[in-house]
This record gives sequence, C-alpha cells and structure tokens, in this order.
Amino acid sequence: MSGGSGAGRPKVWFVGAGPGAADLLTFRGAAAIAGADVVVWAGSLVSPEVLVHARHGAELLDSSKLTLERVAAVYDRALAERLVVARVHSGDPTLYGAVQEQIAECDRRGLAWEIVPGVSSLGAAAAAVGHELTVPGVSQSVVLTRLATRTSSSVPAHEQVRELARSRTTMALFLSCSRPRALQAELEAGGYPPQTPCAVVYRASWPDEVVVRCPLAELAERLRSARIHKQALVLVGPALADADGGGCRSNLYHPAFSHEFRRAEAHPEVADDST
Ligand code: SAH
Repeated sequence: MSGGSGAGRPKVWFVGAGPGAADLLTFRGAAAIAGADVVVWAGSLVSPEVLVHARHGAELLDSSKLTLERVAAVYDRALAERLVVARVHSGDPTLYGAVQEQIAECDRRGLAWEIVPGVSSLGAAAAAVGHELTVPGVSQSVVLTRLATRTSSSVPAHEQVRELARSRTTMALFLSCSRPRALQAELEAGGYPPQTPCAVVYRASWPDEVVVRCPLAELAERLRSARIHKQALVLVGPALADADGGGCRSNLYHPAFSHEFRRAEAHPEVADDST
C-alpha cells in the first residue's frame, strides 16, 4: 500500500466499511483508508467516523453525490498522479455495492485494485435480532435478494422474490422496504405461510437502530406504522422462530459425533465431518 504521499503505485482499494458502527470497520479497511490520498466514501450509509482513519490532508469525496463517470474521473487522476484511492462502501462491497462497474473502469485503465471485505448489514441485522439464520433441521440456506422496483437496477425474472420464496428457507431482503405491500404479497405468493416469522432491522448497529418482529401477515402494516421505508434489512423464514423453533441441535457440538478437532464421547464409532 502507498504511504499516501502520491508517490506509490496507483491503486484503488474497495473497502467495506461495515454496517454503520465505526468499530465494525476491519483493521485492514482502516489501514487501506489510512494509506489513501483520496477517500471516496458513501455518505448515505457509511458513518463519517470511519474518516478518522484518513491521513491529514487526504481528499475526501462523498460518492452519494457522484455519478460513475465522476468516480471514473478520479480513477483517471489516480493513474496520472500515481494516487492511492480508498473507495469506501457500506457493509461488504460485494453485496449491492455497484463495485463491478468500477472494477471494469479500473481494468479498462490498467489500474490496480483490491477488495477489502466488510461486515455486511446481513450479519449486523441478525446480531441485532439475536438469532441464527441457519438453524439445523429448520433452515440451512440463506437467500440474499431484493424486491424488483421500477427504479431499481434490474432483477432477472427467474429471481423475482416470489420465485425464490418457493424455497421457504431464510431470506434476507436488501433495498426492499419502499413497497411494503408488494414485498409481503411476493413473499406470500411464493408460499411462505402467513405466520412465518419476520424481522426488520432499520439501521443495524447505528445508534438509532430499530428492530421490528412480526409474522409475515403483518409485515407491510408494521413497516408502514414504524415508517421504515429505507436503510432496513428484512429477514424472513422459519429459522427466526422464538426458542429452538422445533429445530434439532447441530452435529458440530454433539457428543456422538467425531470430527477433525474432537473425538466423539458417546458413540465413538460415529465419525462424521458434518456441522
Ligand atoms: N453492501 C451493503 C448493502 C448495500 S445496499 C451491505 O453489505 O450491507 C443498501 C441496502 O443494504 C439498504 O437498502 C438496506 O437494505 C441494507 N443496509 C445497509 N446498511 C444497513 C444497516 N445498517 N441496517 C439495515 N440495513 C442496511
């Protein structure tokens, strides 16, 4: 990484800033920001507190006010002036981060780049709810998706929420609270029963975080009454049921199972690498 003097190898670091709380930024992310001459950060969802890691005199640009073309112009400048850029995204950059189009811009210019993973709002939301998303015997898969809206980036037809909802597994819906009734209807049309547990987490890990729990049948109304229409993640699925949800325990910590790091206590003949 460059020392931030502008004399290093030009490079773009795509940094995951985490879901909001500044102490959920990784050490690697903080170091990438500290080494940057220019920090382009998503002011809409990234806390300004992460900017304390920027070196004195670094140029700070809020990406929520910039088009891709303007960000690409920063990358042009990075090449010409041998600058290091930290492009700071909310959560993890690889989820709804519009990072691929920027990677293409870098590749087109022969500009080096690297991704620093971040704590996604998925993990922060599940932590706020205080629930595992993969409960043995209930749900062992998580679908990450979004509701298609008129203004959103296009969602392929075979990935409509109602199609994915057929799995009835745990689903995490990003960017989907602006049309609460359509969201509920799509989830129901896919086959989730009306009593399926839902949890909405608004601004997970921020000081004004809000958690709403309700059955699917009440999802739209609860979103409306809580006035949540953005910056929220919706978690849906039987794994979110209270208590053990009727699930069975994991093999990983079961005394009857051996695995790479532990021998079975109860039934030594059972050897299994499953979790
Ligand atoms: N890359 C980000 C997602 C960016 S898309 C990540 O990994 O979290 C923006 C959407 O992410 C929001 O509409 C919302 O659905 C979700 N989101 C981002 N930060 C959030 C937070 N702190 N709490 C709840 N949802 C959040």
